[in-house]
Formats: sequence, C-alpha cells, structure tokens
Amino acid sequence: MSASTSAPAPGCLPVLGRDVRAPLVTGGDAEYAALDYAASAPALQRVWDDVAAYAPYYGSVHRGAGYLSQLSTELFESSRATVAGFLGCRPDDQVVFTRSTTDSLNLLAAALPPGTEVYVFETEHHAALLPWQHGGSAAGRVTVLPAPGSPGQAVAALDSALAARVGDGPALVCVTGASNVTGELWPVRELTAAAHRHGARLVLDAAQLAPHHPVDVADLGVDWVAFSGHKLYAPFGAGVLAGRADWLRAAPPYLAGGGASRRVLRAAGGGVDVEWQTTAARHEAGSPNVIGAYAIASACRALTEAGFDALVAREQTLVARVLAGLAELPGVRVLSLFGADAARVGVVSFVVDGWSSPHLAAALSAEHGIGVRDGLFCAHPLVRALLGDAGGSAESAACGGAAGDGERPLNAVRVSFGAG
Ligand code: PLP
Repeated sequence: MSASTSAPAPGCLPVLGRDVRAPLVTGGDAEYAALDYAASAPALQRVWDDVAAYAPYYGSVHRGAGYLSQLSTELFESSRATVAGFLGCRPDDQVVFTRSTTDSLNLLAAALPPGTEVYVFETEHHAALLPWQHGGSAAGRVTVLPAPGSPGQAVAALDSALAARVGDGPALVCVTGASNVTGELWPVRELTAAAHRHGARLVLDAAQLAPHHPVDVADLGVDWVAFSGHKLYAPFGAGVLAGRADWLRAAPPYLAGGGASRRVLRAAGGGVDVEWQTTAARHEAGSPNVIGAYAIASACRALTEAGFDALVAREQTLVARVLAGLAELPGVRVLSLFGADAARVGVVSFVVDGWSSPHLAAALSAEHGIGVRDGLFCAHPLVRALLGDAGGSAESAACGGAAGDGERPLNAVRVSFGAG
C-alpha cells in the first residue's frame, strides 16, 4: 500500500490560480509535511484509481433495469459486503452507508428504543458526546462519566455506573477506540464486557481506530461500530454504521424517502401508508453515495492487503520517533490521560511552555512546512481535563482554535499520521 504516488507535484491549481506546494504523504521529496491525518488522511492512489476506473460506469442504484444501474447496484452491494468483512461483522449485522462517523452516531441516536439510557465518557469527540442529547435522539437519561486516569479506571467507572442503574430498560454505552486528542487506545473489549454484564449495548467510535488497527466486531463483541471514509484513506462524504440489525430494523427510518420505502399507498383516510425496508436501505433514503461506498471498500481492501501487522509496526516506529523527539525539547508536555506507557496510535498532542498553540502551529507551517492541527480538536471537555481547566463556560463554537480565559491559553498542537 502506498500513498506516496498520490502526492501531487507542486504546480498551479487552476481554481486558485496560483502555485501550490507538494504535500508529503509518505516519503518522497516533500515541500510540505501534512501531519493532520486524524482530521482527514490523504486518499490512497489505489482508491483514486479504483474510483476513476468506475466513474465512467456509475449509475443510480437499486432502481433501474439498465446495465449501468445494475452494475452500480452490484458494486454498491459488494462494497457493503467488503466493509462487513473488513469489520468482522456477524452474519446478521447490517452495514449502513452514512455520510461520516458523526452521521452514523446521530443515526444510531435516532434509532434507539425510546428512553434508552446512554453512558458516555466526557473524553469523547463531540460526534460521540453530543448526538444523544440532540433533537433527533430517542435517548432518555444521558450519563456523562468523568475522564478516567487509566484504562482500568474507565472499566471500573462504567461498571459501577451501570450497576447503579435503576430499572432494566435499554441502555447504550458509546466509547472511542482511540482518542483523537491523545491517540491512546481505550479498553474496548473490557468496556464491552462491562456493558453486556449489565444488559447494556455498546457502540464503538472507530473513527481513529479503524485506520490504524483491525476492528473485529464479532471478536470484540461490540454491538455497533462507526467510522468515516475520509480518515481511512478514502475521500470525504461517506461513512459506515455497522452492527446489530434489531434496533435499526425497529426504528423509524433516519430519513424518509425513496429507497427506504418498500411500498407506499394512499391511505383511505388521507395521507399515505408506508411499508419501510427492513434492510440497511431503511436508513439510506435518497440516492446513496455509491462512489463514496465504493471508495471505502477500496480502502478496506488496500489496508487488508497491506496487512495491519506491518502497518502497526511501521506506525509504532514513527510514534516512538515523535515522542523521543518531543522529549528532547525543553518545555514540551505531551498530553496523556493514561500515562507515558499507554498504547497509542499515530496521534500526539502537546503544549509548549511560552508558546500559544495557534502561533506554534502557524510557525510550523510557515517556517518549516509542517501542517499540524491546533485547538481543542472537537473534544472540549477532554482537552480541558488534560490541561487542568475545570471551567464550564463555552468559549467558542469552533472545534479548533478556541482560546482559554484570556490569561491562560486552552488549546494544544496535534501531529497525526499513519503508515498508509
Ligand atoms: N470520532 C472521532 C474520535 C474523531 O476523531 C472524529 C473526527 O475527527 C469523529 C468522531 C467525527 O468524524 P467525522 O467528522 O468524519 O464525522
């Protein structure tokens, strides 16, 4: 697997009408090192090639007898099967194509049995923290657990919160596999076991885990998993929610429209009677993003063929180099919840004494050609906890670049990469 050939040469972007620098993807002659894979990883050349080969043939799926429609339907459904295989889904699981992880978790929030209790750590990305209390959510009480100091503490905290539950209605735990701030791995298997012990289900936010480690739904026992194509070396615009079919089948469709409905009749008393699909199509109303699904499947195949053992080994070498390099610099503090020995993916956030993170990020870009992210990374409570800020007031609607109380900056710099 190689992304290096996808790095364009420097040249003139016609739309901007000016020269641009060539980004470093992996290796090669770099003018610019793009170290923001956690936000969006560059799509693999192989994925672009697959998409380009398919582009002349694509048509609308599921609705046409024409050749291109049939071909596209076959490719769309085989992409679903590829993703199911990549995720190690159980035979009865459904794979729903969505727009992104955010979309997947909002879909699940809307599909919960009404009144489902939700448990989530405050350390989650906003995409996993916010949907449960949002307008379309069917959730009941939402319990937000404080940031744990170790993986063991996370399991113990969840265990006791679930043990204290009154009633035995449906409950859901939402947890990340790898933090987009610290890169640290969460004890997914143990958290899932704790959830199941108390009759709760668990959805894994694998936005940061899936590009770096194999995610095996059946082996981990998680009930659902969500991820985004654009972090998995595919382009923007498509994501996945995969897992248990029962709640998805029982829920009202995420969107009402064509494709989600099997039969629609004028109702005798006015309005319409609708018979909804019971497959994944139930939550995919409208013309789906066939190219996006196909691109995700292509990325899944590329990662599988490259082999996660090799990818993890290479990435861990890079992680060790970054951490060792930062350790040599005075005044640098690497952010960590679980301590220096915690296992992590290629995501490292830090603060530097005497530097504001936005200024540092701007200097890295302008003076050294290194593109990093700065801010609170759409995980405000986590960054607050890591930087020792107890505050409760919202400072900025922005995911990045939010400032602190004016005296003390409340943001960090993040470098992130993969072995792709
Ligand atoms: N979850 C985690 C851990 C993330 O890092 C992100 C994005 O950075 C998301 C969810 C949301 O992903 P998307 O913006 O693709 O919906």
